[in-house]
Amino acid sequence: MNLMYRSTRDDKNRVTASQAVLKGLAEDGGLFVPERIPELALSPETLADMTYQETAYEVMRQFLTDYTEEELKACICSAYDEKFDTPEIAPLCEADGAYYLELFHGATIAFKDMALSILPYLMTTAAKKNHEDKEIVILTATSGDTGKAALAGFADVPGTKIIVFYPKNGVSAVQEKQMVTQKGANTCVIGIRGNFDDAQTGVKRLFGDAALGEELAKAGYRFSSANSINIGRLVPQIVYYVYAYGKLLKAGKIRSGERMNVVVPTGNFGNILAAYYAKCMGLPIERLICASNENKVLYDFFRTGIYDRNREFILTSSPSMDILISSNLERLIYRMAGDDAKENARLMAELSEKGSYTVSEAMREAMTGFTGGFATMEDVAGEIAGLYKKTGYVLDTHTAVASCVYRAYRAQSGDSTPTVIASTASPYKFARSVMEAINPKYAGMDDFALIDELSRLSGTKVPRAIEEIRSAVVLHDKVIDKSQMETAVKAFLDIH
Ligand SMILES: *Cc1c(COP(=O)(O)O)cnc(C)c1O
Repeated sequence: MNLMYRSTRDDKNRVTASQAVLKGLAEDGGLFVPERIPELALSPETLADMTYQETAYEVMRQFLTDYTEEELKACICSAYDEKFDTPEIAPLCEADGAYYLELFHGATIAFKDMALSILPYLMTTAAKKNHEDKEIVILTATSGDTGKAALAGFADVPGTKIIVFYPKNGVSAVQEKQMVTQKGANTCVIGIRGNFDDAQTGVKRLFGDAALGEELAKAGYRFSSANSINIGRLVPQIVYYVYAYGKLLKAGKIRSGERMNVVVPTGNFGNILAAYYAKCMGLPIERLICASNENKVLYDFFRTGIYDRNREFILTSSPSMDILISSNLERLIYRMAGDDAKENARLMAELSEKGSYTVSEAMREAMTGFTGGFATMEDVAGEIAGLYKKTGYVLDTHTAVASCVYRAYRAQSGDSTPTVIASTASPYKFARSVMEAINPKYAGMDDFALIDELSRLSGTKVPRAIEEIRSAVVLHDKVIDKSQMETAVKAFLDIH
Protein backbone atom coordinates (compact mmCIF):
# COMPACT_ATOMS: atom_id res chain seq x y z
CA MET A 1 0.00 0.00 0.00
CA ASN A 2 1.24 3.45 -0.87
CA LEU A 3 2.25 5.95 1.80
CA MET A 4 0.05 8.95 1.08
CA TYR A 5 0.79 12.63 1.71
CA ARG A 6 -1.70 15.18 2.92
CA SER A 7 -1.74 18.93 3.22
CA THR A 8 -1.04 20.47 6.63
CA ARG A 9 -4.07 22.71 6.06
CA ASP A 10 -6.64 20.29 4.67
CA ASP A 11 -6.91 16.58 5.59
CA LYS A 12 -8.93 15.82 2.50
CA ASN A 13 -6.17 16.95 0.18
CA ARG A 14 -4.34 13.61 -0.27
CA VAL A 15 -1.78 12.73 -2.93
CA THR A 16 0.89 10.11 -3.65
CA ALA A 17 4.57 10.87 -3.08
CA SER A 18 5.26 11.54 -6.76
CA GLN A 19 2.28 13.88 -6.98
CA ALA A 20 3.50 15.76 -3.90
CA VAL A 21 6.94 16.13 -5.49
CA LEU A 22 5.36 17.41 -8.69
CA LYS A 23 3.12 19.92 -6.93
CA GLY A 24 5.65 21.24 -4.41
CA LEU A 25 3.13 23.20 -2.36
CA ALA A 26 -0.51 22.19 -1.77
CA GLU A 27 -3.20 24.31 -3.48
CA ASP A 28 -4.53 25.38 -0.08
CA GLY A 29 -1.17 26.91 0.86
CA GLY A 30 -0.29 23.97 3.12
CA LEU A 31 2.73 21.69 2.96
CA PHE A 32 2.54 18.00 2.12
CA VAL A 33 3.36 15.65 5.00
CA PRO A 34 3.47 11.84 5.07
CA GLU A 35 0.39 10.32 6.74
CA ARG A 36 2.72 8.29 8.93
CA ILE A 37 6.47 8.21 9.39
CA PRO A 38 7.78 4.82 8.30
CA GLU A 39 10.09 2.76 10.47
CA LEU A 40 13.77 2.39 9.75
CA ALA A 41 13.97 -1.37 9.60
CA LEU A 42 17.74 -1.85 9.55
CA SER A 43 20.04 -3.64 11.95
CA PRO A 44 22.99 -1.59 13.28
CA GLU A 45 25.38 -4.02 11.55
CA THR A 46 23.74 -3.39 8.19
CA LEU A 47 23.64 0.35 8.79
CA ALA A 48 27.33 0.52 9.62
CA ASP A 49 28.32 -1.06 6.34
CA MET A 50 26.13 0.78 3.87
CA THR A 51 27.41 3.26 1.29
CA TYR A 52 25.72 6.64 0.95
CA GLN A 53 23.79 5.43 -2.09
CA GLU A 54 22.60 2.29 -0.30
CA THR A 55 21.49 4.31 2.71
CA ALA A 56 19.68 6.71 0.38
CA TYR A 57 17.77 3.85 -1.19
CA GLU A 58 16.79 2.29 2.14
CA VAL A 59 15.45 5.58 3.49
CA MET A 60 13.84 6.94 0.35
CA ARG A 61 12.02 3.76 -0.64
CA GLN A 62 10.13 3.97 2.66
CA PHE A 63 8.82 7.46 1.91
CA LEU A 64 8.50 7.51 -1.86
CA THR A 65 6.50 4.31 -2.18
CA ASP A 66 4.98 4.95 -5.60
CA TYR A 67 8.43 5.07 -7.23
CA THR A 68 9.62 1.65 -8.39
CA GLU A 69 12.91 0.22 -7.16
CA GLU A 70 14.37 0.74 -10.60
CA GLU A 71 13.25 4.37 -10.79
CA LEU A 72 14.53 5.23 -7.34
CA LYS A 73 17.90 3.56 -7.87
CA ALA A 74 18.31 5.36 -11.19
CA CYS A 75 17.60 8.72 -9.49
CA ILE A 76 20.10 7.94 -6.70
CA CYS A 77 22.83 6.80 -9.11
CA SER A 78 22.48 9.90 -11.27
CA ALA A 79 22.51 12.22 -8.24
CA TYR A 80 25.27 10.95 -5.99
CA ASP A 81 28.12 10.48 -8.44
CA GLU A 82 31.29 12.35 -9.39
CA LYS A 83 29.53 15.67 -8.92
CA PHE A 84 30.63 15.10 -5.33
CA ASP A 85 34.34 15.49 -4.69
CA THR A 86 34.51 12.48 -2.35
CA PRO A 87 33.07 8.96 -2.73
CA GLU A 88 31.85 9.19 0.87
CA ILE A 89 29.47 11.97 -0.32
CA ALA A 90 29.03 13.23 3.27
CA PRO A 91 32.21 12.65 5.32
CA LEU A 92 32.18 12.88 9.10
CA CYS A 93 35.07 14.86 10.53
CA GLU A 94 35.98 14.91 14.24
CA ALA A 95 37.26 18.16 15.73
CA ASP A 96 37.47 19.27 19.34
CA GLY A 97 35.10 16.60 20.65
CA ALA A 98 32.30 16.96 18.07
CA TYR A 99 31.56 15.26 14.75
CA TYR A 100 31.12 17.64 11.83
CA LEU A 101 28.98 16.05 9.11
CA GLU A 102 30.32 17.75 6.00
CA LEU A 103 27.37 18.26 3.67
CA PHE A 104 29.19 20.57 1.27
CA HIS A 105 31.04 18.26 -1.08
CA GLY A 106 28.57 18.65 -3.96
CA ALA A 107 28.59 20.83 -7.06
CA THR A 108 27.75 24.15 -5.35
CA ILE A 109 29.49 23.51 -2.01
CA ALA A 110 26.50 23.92 0.32
CA PHE A 111 24.26 21.28 1.89
CA LYS A 112 21.47 22.16 -0.54
CA ASP A 113 23.28 19.92 -3.04
CA MET A 114 22.40 16.87 -0.94
CA ALA A 115 18.76 17.17 -1.96
CA LEU A 116 18.93 19.30 -5.08
CA SER A 117 21.22 16.85 -6.85
CA ILE A 118 18.39 14.35 -6.79
CA LEU A 119 15.25 16.52 -6.94
CA PRO A 120 15.37 17.08 -10.72
CA TYR A 121 15.45 13.30 -11.26
CA LEU A 122 12.65 12.71 -8.76
CA MET A 123 10.62 15.40 -10.46
CA THR A 124 11.08 14.33 -14.06
CA THR A 125 10.34 10.75 -13.00
CA ALA A 126 7.20 11.99 -11.22
CA ALA A 127 6.14 13.88 -14.35
CA LYS A 128 6.43 10.71 -16.42
CA LYS A 129 4.59 8.57 -13.88
CA ASN A 130 1.72 11.03 -13.69
CA HIS A 131 1.55 11.61 -17.46
CA GLU A 132 2.21 15.29 -16.95
CA ASP A 133 2.06 16.96 -20.34
CA LYS A 134 2.99 20.47 -19.21
CA GLU A 135 6.46 21.91 -18.90
CA ILE A 136 7.48 22.29 -15.24
CA VAL A 137 8.48 25.76 -14.11
CA ILE A 138 10.52 25.65 -10.91
CA LEU A 139 9.90 28.79 -8.92
CA THR A 140 12.45 29.31 -6.18
CA ALA A 141 13.18 31.86 -3.47
CA THR A 142 16.70 31.65 -2.11
CA SER A 143 18.65 33.02 0.81
CA GLY A 144 21.74 32.26 -1.27
CA ASP A 145 22.42 28.54 -1.47
CA THR A 146 19.20 26.91 -2.68
CA GLY A 147 19.25 29.12 -5.77
CA LYS A 148 22.58 27.95 -7.11
CA ALA A 149 22.05 24.32 -6.12
CA ALA A 150 18.65 24.28 -7.83
CA LEU A 151 20.05 26.01 -10.93
CA ALA A 152 22.88 23.49 -11.15
CA GLY A 153 20.37 20.65 -10.82
CA PHE A 154 17.78 21.88 -13.30
CA ALA A 155 19.95 23.65 -15.93
CA ASP A 156 19.19 22.16 -19.35
CA VAL A 157 16.94 19.43 -17.91
CA PRO A 158 14.41 18.79 -20.72
CA GLY A 159 10.81 19.64 -19.84
CA THR A 160 11.77 22.13 -17.12
CA LYS A 161 12.49 25.81 -16.67
CA ILE A 162 13.79 27.41 -13.48
CA ILE A 163 13.36 30.92 -12.09
CA VAL A 164 15.29 31.98 -8.98
CA PHE A 165 14.62 35.07 -6.87
CA TYR A 166 17.33 36.18 -4.42
CA PRO A 167 17.62 39.20 -2.08
CA LYS A 168 19.91 41.56 -4.00
CA ASN A 169 21.83 42.77 -0.94
CA GLY A 170 21.33 39.71 1.22
CA VAL A 171 23.79 37.13 -0.11
CA SER A 172 27.59 36.73 -0.07
CA ALA A 173 29.73 37.87 -3.03
CA VAL A 174 30.54 34.26 -3.93
CA GLN A 175 26.88 33.19 -3.66
CA GLU A 176 25.79 35.99 -5.99
CA LYS A 177 28.54 35.35 -8.51
CA GLN A 178 27.67 31.65 -8.57
CA MET A 179 24.06 32.42 -9.43
CA VAL A 180 24.39 35.25 -11.93
CA THR A 181 26.92 33.30 -14.02
CA GLN A 182 24.59 30.29 -14.37
CA LYS A 183 24.44 28.88 -17.89
CA GLY A 184 21.48 27.06 -19.47
CA ALA A 185 18.76 28.39 -21.76
CA ASN A 186 16.05 27.33 -19.28
CA THR A 187 17.46 29.34 -16.35
CA CYS A 188 16.49 32.78 -15.05
CA VAL A 189 18.00 34.57 -12.02
CA ILE A 190 16.51 37.77 -10.62
CA GLY A 191 17.56 40.00 -7.73
CA ILE A 192 14.82 41.41 -5.48
CA ARG A 193 14.99 44.73 -3.68
CA GLY A 194 14.01 43.18 -0.35
CA ASN A 195 14.99 40.35 1.95
CA PHE A 196 14.56 36.57 1.78
CA ASP A 197 11.15 36.64 3.47
CA ASP A 198 9.94 39.04 0.75
CA ALA A 199 11.17 36.64 -1.92
CA GLN A 200 9.66 33.56 -0.24
CA THR A 201 6.32 35.25 0.46
CA GLY A 202 6.20 36.47 -3.15
CA VAL A 203 6.86 32.99 -4.49
CA LYS A 204 4.19 31.46 -2.23
CA ARG A 205 1.74 34.09 -3.45
CA LEU A 206 2.43 33.21 -7.09
CA PHE A 207 1.82 29.55 -6.23
CA GLY A 208 -1.50 30.40 -4.62
CA ASP A 209 -2.69 32.63 -7.49
CA ALA A 210 -5.37 30.53 -9.22
CA ALA A 211 -5.79 32.96 -12.13
CA LEU A 212 -2.08 32.90 -12.84
CA GLY A 213 -2.14 29.10 -12.62
CA GLU A 214 -4.78 29.03 -15.34
CA GLU A 215 -2.86 31.39 -17.58
CA LEU A 216 0.17 29.20 -17.12
CA ALA A 217 -1.74 26.02 -17.90
CA LYS A 218 -3.06 27.57 -21.12
CA ALA A 219 0.51 28.35 -22.14
CA GLY A 220 1.52 24.75 -21.36
CA TYR A 221 3.28 25.28 -18.00
CA ARG A 222 2.81 24.32 -14.38
CA PHE A 223 4.68 25.61 -11.34
CA SER A 224 6.61 23.49 -8.91
CA SER A 225 9.05 24.24 -6.12
CA ALA A 226 12.67 23.44 -5.36
CA ASN A 227 12.43 24.98 -1.89
CA SER A 228 12.33 22.76 1.17
CA ILE A 229 8.55 23.14 1.17
CA ASN A 230 8.80 20.36 -1.45
CA ILE A 231 8.76 16.93 0.19
CA GLY A 232 11.22 15.87 -2.52
CA ARG A 233 13.77 18.12 -0.82
CA LEU A 234 13.05 16.89 2.67
CA VAL A 235 13.20 13.13 2.16
CA PRO A 236 16.74 13.08 0.68
CA GLN A 237 17.85 15.15 3.67
CA ILE A 238 16.82 12.42 6.12
CA VAL A 239 19.39 10.13 4.54
CA TYR A 240 22.55 11.78 5.83
CA TYR A 241 21.50 11.61 9.47
CA VAL A 242 21.00 7.87 9.12
CA TYR A 243 24.32 7.64 7.26
CA ALA A 244 26.13 9.65 9.96
CA TYR A 245 24.89 7.27 12.64
CA GLY A 246 26.17 4.34 10.56
CA LYS A 247 29.58 6.02 10.24
CA LEU A 248 29.77 6.57 14.02
CA LEU A 249 28.95 2.89 14.55
CA LYS A 250 31.50 1.78 12.00
CA ALA A 251 34.23 3.93 13.54
CA GLY A 252 33.40 2.57 16.99
CA LYS A 253 32.52 6.03 18.27
CA ILE A 254 29.10 4.90 19.36
CA ARG A 255 27.68 1.55 20.56
CA SER A 256 24.71 -0.06 18.89
CA GLY A 257 21.52 1.64 20.08
CA GLU A 258 23.43 4.42 21.89
CA ARG A 259 22.00 7.84 21.22
CA MET A 260 23.52 10.85 19.51
CA ASN A 261 22.65 14.54 19.59
CA VAL A 262 22.26 16.51 16.39
CA VAL A 263 22.96 20.25 16.04
CA VAL A 264 21.64 22.05 12.97
CA PRO A 265 22.26 25.64 11.87
CA THR A 266 18.71 26.60 10.99
CA GLY A 267 16.88 29.00 8.71
CA ASN A 268 13.78 27.63 7.02
CA PHE A 269 13.68 24.63 9.42
CA GLY A 270 14.08 22.10 6.60
CA ASN A 271 17.34 20.49 7.58
CA ILE A 272 16.46 20.03 11.25
CA LEU A 273 12.99 18.77 10.34
CA ALA A 274 14.69 16.04 8.31
CA ALA A 275 16.67 15.10 11.45
CA TYR A 276 13.41 15.02 13.38
CA TYR A 277 11.86 12.70 10.77
CA ALA A 278 14.95 10.48 11.09
CA LYS A 279 14.33 10.36 14.84
CA CYS A 280 10.66 9.49 14.27
CA MET A 281 11.82 6.63 12.00
CA GLY A 282 13.63 5.21 14.99
CA LEU A 283 17.16 6.57 14.55
CA PRO A 284 18.57 6.90 18.10
CA ILE A 285 18.67 10.69 18.38
CA GLU A 286 18.57 12.20 21.87
CA ARG A 287 18.42 15.99 21.46
CA LEU A 288 17.77 18.08 18.38
CA ILE A 289 19.57 21.36 18.87
CA CYS A 290 18.24 24.16 16.69
CA ALA A 291 20.91 26.85 16.22
CA SER A 292 19.94 30.34 15.04
CA ASN A 293 21.86 33.49 14.23
CA GLU A 294 20.66 36.92 15.41
CA ASN A 295 17.36 36.36 13.58
CA LYS A 296 16.49 34.15 16.53
CA VAL A 297 12.73 33.66 16.04
CA LEU A 298 13.11 29.92 16.54
CA TYR A 299 15.20 30.24 19.70
CA ASP A 300 12.50 32.47 21.19
CA PHE A 301 9.81 30.07 19.99
CA PHE A 302 11.30 27.01 21.68
CA ARG A 303 11.82 29.04 24.86
CA THR A 304 8.38 30.66 25.08
CA GLY A 305 5.95 28.88 22.75
CA ILE A 306 5.38 32.19 20.96
CA TYR A 307 6.37 32.52 17.31
CA ASP A 308 6.77 36.21 16.55
CA ARG A 309 8.19 37.55 13.32
CA ASN A 310 7.45 41.15 14.24
CA ARG A 311 11.03 42.26 14.65
CA GLU A 312 13.89 43.77 12.73
CA PHE A 313 15.35 41.59 9.96
CA ILE A 314 19.09 41.47 10.60
CA LEU A 315 21.66 40.91 7.83
CA THR A 316 24.32 38.65 9.37
CA SER A 317 27.51 36.87 8.37
CA SER A 318 25.40 33.69 7.94
CA PRO A 319 23.05 35.00 5.23
CA SER A 320 21.49 31.62 4.38
CA MET A 321 19.94 31.67 7.86
CA ASP A 322 18.63 35.25 7.64
CA ILE A 323 14.97 34.25 7.78
CA LEU A 324 12.09 35.27 10.02
CA ILE A 325 9.40 33.01 8.55
CA SER A 326 10.63 29.43 8.78
CA SER A 327 8.30 27.62 6.39
CA ASN A 328 8.99 24.08 7.50
CA LEU A 329 8.12 24.75 11.11
CA GLU A 330 4.55 24.37 9.86
CA ARG A 331 5.18 20.65 9.41
CA LEU A 332 6.26 20.35 13.06
CA ILE A 333 3.36 22.47 14.29
CA TYR A 334 0.93 20.25 12.41
CA ARG A 335 2.37 17.16 14.02
CA MET A 336 2.55 18.66 17.50
CA ALA A 337 -1.11 19.64 17.15
CA GLY A 338 -1.85 15.91 16.69
CA ASP A 339 -2.05 16.05 12.88
CA ASP A 340 -4.82 18.60 13.24
CA ALA A 341 -5.08 20.51 9.95
CA LYS A 342 -7.75 22.89 11.25
CA GLU A 343 -5.68 23.96 14.26
CA ASN A 344 -2.57 24.31 12.12
CA ALA A 345 -4.43 26.38 9.51
CA ARG A 346 -5.72 28.64 12.29
CA LEU A 347 -2.20 29.26 13.62
CA MET A 348 -0.82 29.89 10.12
CA ALA A 349 -3.62 32.36 9.41
CA GLU A 350 -2.64 34.21 12.59
CA LEU A 351 0.97 34.25 11.45
CA SER A 352 0.00 35.75 8.15
CA GLU A 353 -2.42 38.30 9.68
CA LYS A 354 -0.63 39.33 12.89
CA GLY A 355 2.86 38.02 12.31
CA SER A 356 2.69 35.85 15.42
CA TYR A 357 0.98 32.92 17.10
CA THR A 358 1.14 31.06 20.41
CA VAL A 359 1.02 27.27 20.70
CA SER A 360 -0.79 25.39 23.48
CA GLU A 361 0.92 23.97 26.58
CA ALA A 362 0.34 20.45 25.25
CA MET A 363 2.08 21.34 22.00
CA ARG A 364 5.00 22.86 23.87
CA GLU A 365 5.33 19.69 25.87
CA ALA A 366 5.38 17.64 22.70
CA MET A 367 8.39 19.65 21.53
CA THR A 368 10.67 19.01 24.50
CA GLY A 369 13.08 17.00 22.31
CA PHE A 370 14.18 20.29 20.76
CA THR A 371 16.60 22.76 22.34
CA GLY A 372 17.04 26.22 20.85
CA GLY A 373 20.21 28.28 20.93
CA PHE A 374 21.63 31.28 19.10
CA ALA A 375 24.95 32.91 18.34
CA THR A 376 25.79 36.52 17.46
CA MET A 377 28.15 37.51 14.64
CA GLU A 378 30.82 38.17 17.23
CA ASP A 379 30.34 34.70 18.74
CA VAL A 380 30.60 33.20 15.25
CA ALA A 381 33.86 34.98 14.47
CA GLY A 382 35.24 33.84 17.84
CA GLU A 383 34.17 30.24 17.18
CA ILE A 384 35.85 30.15 13.74
CA ALA A 385 39.09 31.66 15.07
CA GLY A 386 39.09 29.54 18.24
CA LEU A 387 38.53 26.20 16.52
CA TYR A 388 41.06 27.02 13.83
CA LYS A 389 43.75 27.90 16.36
CA LYS A 390 43.05 24.82 18.43
CA THR A 391 42.67 22.23 15.66
CA GLY A 392 43.45 23.76 12.24
CA TYR A 393 39.89 22.95 11.11
CA VAL A 394 38.11 25.83 9.37
CA LEU A 395 34.32 26.27 9.65
CA ASP A 396 32.06 28.39 7.51
CA THR A 397 29.93 31.01 9.24
CA HIS A 398 26.74 28.90 9.30
CA THR A 399 28.37 25.80 10.73
CA ALA A 400 30.08 28.10 13.23
CA VAL A 401 26.66 29.23 14.51
CA ALA A 402 25.88 25.57 15.27
CA SER A 403 29.32 24.87 16.68
CA CYS A 404 29.08 27.85 19.00
CA VAL A 405 25.58 26.95 20.17
CA TYR A 406 26.76 23.39 20.86
CA ARG A 407 29.75 24.62 22.88
CA ALA A 408 27.46 26.73 25.07
CA TYR A 409 24.91 23.90 25.39
CA ARG A 410 27.54 21.41 26.44
CA ALA A 411 29.12 23.74 28.98
CA GLN A 412 25.75 24.52 30.50
CA SER A 413 24.20 21.03 30.47
CA GLY A 414 27.24 18.84 30.95
CA ASP A 415 25.65 16.54 28.33
CA SER A 416 28.46 14.47 26.83
CA THR A 417 26.33 12.47 24.36
CA PRO A 418 28.22 12.00 21.06
CA THR A 419 27.15 14.92 18.92
CA VAL A 420 26.87 15.41 15.18
CA ILE A 421 26.96 18.99 13.89
CA ALA A 422 25.49 19.53 10.43
CA SER A 423 28.21 21.34 8.51
CA THR A 424 26.17 23.15 5.90
CA ALA A 425 28.62 25.07 3.74
CA SER A 426 32.22 25.13 2.64
CA PRO A 427 34.22 27.97 4.22
CA TYR A 428 35.18 28.97 0.66
CA LYS A 429 31.65 30.15 0.06
CA PHE A 430 31.95 32.72 2.84
CA ALA A 431 35.68 33.31 2.57
CA ARG A 432 35.57 36.98 3.55
CA SER A 433 33.76 36.52 6.85
CA VAL A 434 35.78 33.40 7.63
CA MET A 435 39.17 34.96 6.94
CA GLU A 436 38.41 38.20 8.73
CA ALA A 437 37.38 36.14 11.74
CA ILE A 438 40.71 34.33 11.72
CA ASN A 439 42.71 37.51 11.34
CA PRO A 440 41.46 41.10 10.94
CA LYS A 441 44.48 41.85 8.74
CA TYR A 442 42.63 40.20 5.84
CA ALA A 443 40.01 42.97 5.74
CA GLY A 444 41.52 44.78 2.76
CA MET A 445 42.12 41.79 0.48
CA ASP A 446 40.01 41.05 -2.61
CA ASP A 447 37.73 38.02 -2.70
CA PHE A 448 39.88 35.69 -4.77
CA ALA A 449 43.11 36.57 -2.94
CA LEU A 450 41.25 35.63 0.25
CA ILE A 451 40.24 32.32 -1.29
CA ASP A 452 43.85 31.48 -2.14
CA GLU A 453 44.92 32.46 1.35
CA LEU A 454 42.18 30.25 2.84
CA SER A 455 43.50 27.34 0.78
CA ARG A 456 47.02 27.89 2.07
CA LEU A 457 45.97 28.27 5.65
CA SER A 458 43.54 25.32 5.81
CA GLY A 459 45.63 23.02 3.64
CA THR A 460 42.59 22.24 1.47
CA LYS A 461 42.21 22.51 -2.30
CA VAL A 462 40.11 25.35 -3.71
CA PRO A 463 36.82 23.64 -4.73
CA ARG A 464 35.90 23.37 -8.39
CA ALA A 465 32.76 25.47 -7.76
CA ILE A 466 34.99 28.40 -6.83
CA GLU A 467 37.49 27.93 -9.67
CA GLU A 468 34.55 28.01 -12.08
CA ILE A 469 33.44 31.50 -11.09
CA ARG A 470 36.86 33.16 -11.10
CA SER A 471 36.52 34.12 -14.74
CA ALA A 472 32.85 33.36 -15.47
CA VAL A 473 30.77 36.02 -17.23
CA VAL A 474 27.63 37.50 -15.70
CA LEU A 475 24.60 36.23 -17.63
CA HIS A 476 21.79 37.48 -15.36
CA ASP A 477 21.63 41.09 -14.19
CA LYS A 478 17.94 41.78 -13.64
CA VAL A 479 16.95 43.47 -10.35
CA ILE A 480 13.29 44.20 -9.57
CA ASP A 481 10.92 45.32 -6.80
CA LYS A 482 9.08 42.54 -5.02
CA SER A 483 5.83 43.80 -6.56
CA GLN A 484 7.15 42.95 -10.04
CA MET A 485 7.69 39.22 -9.53
CA GLU A 486 4.63 38.13 -11.49
CA THR A 487 5.52 40.37 -14.41
CA ALA A 488 9.06 39.00 -14.42
CA VAL A 489 7.82 35.39 -14.43
CA LYS A 490 5.45 36.08 -17.33
CA ALA A 491 8.16 37.89 -19.28
CA PHE A 492 10.56 34.94 -18.96
CA LEU A 493 7.85 32.48 -20.00
CA ASP A 494 6.70 34.75 -22.79
CA ILE A 495 3.11 34.90 -21.51
CA HIS A 496 1.14 38.06 -22.31
C1 LIG B 1 19.94 26.82 3.72
C2 LIG B 1 21.08 26.86 4.67
C3 LIG B 1 20.89 26.75 6.06
C4 LIG B 1 19.53 26.65 6.67
O1 LIG B 1 18.90 25.43 6.38
P1 LIG B 1 17.30 25.29 6.56
O2 LIG B 1 17.00 23.95 6.03
O3 LIG B 1 16.71 26.39 5.73
O4 LIG B 1 17.02 25.45 8.00
C5 LIG B 1 22.01 26.73 6.87
N1 LIG B 1 23.25 26.85 6.35
C6 LIG B 1 23.47 26.96 5.03
C7 LIG B 1 24.85 27.12 4.53
C8 LIG B 1 22.39 26.96 4.14
O5 LIG B 1 22.61 27.08 2.82
